[in-house]
Amino acid sequence: MGRVFVIELEGAVYTCKKCHTHLALPSDIISKNGRHEYEFSKLFNTFLAERTVKEIFCVVCSNEIGIYGVTDPNTYWVMRAELHGPEGSDDEV
Ligand SMILES: [Zn+2]
Repeated sequence: MGRVFVIELEGAVYTCKKCHTHLALPSDIISKNGRHEYEFSKLFNTFLAERTVKEIFCVVCSNEIGIYGVTDPNTYWVMRAELHGPEGSDDEV
């Protein structure tokens, strides 16, 4: 296995609940479905795999975090329960 190249984000970030890899920035949130799902315009350190729909996975630990392109093309719906952080913010979990 080769080493996975991981992007480090600056400031308040959402991270993978399981491995704390940096995944998303609050400024890239398009909308929120309550506190259950967040819609992002982009993510970092993730990959897509298609089964019935395009699921989104953490590139480091392969945790499934959401689904891609369901309501709109090029948007990422992420399950809030799979995200940690941002540390020190009002939205920290
Ligand atoms: Zn992870």
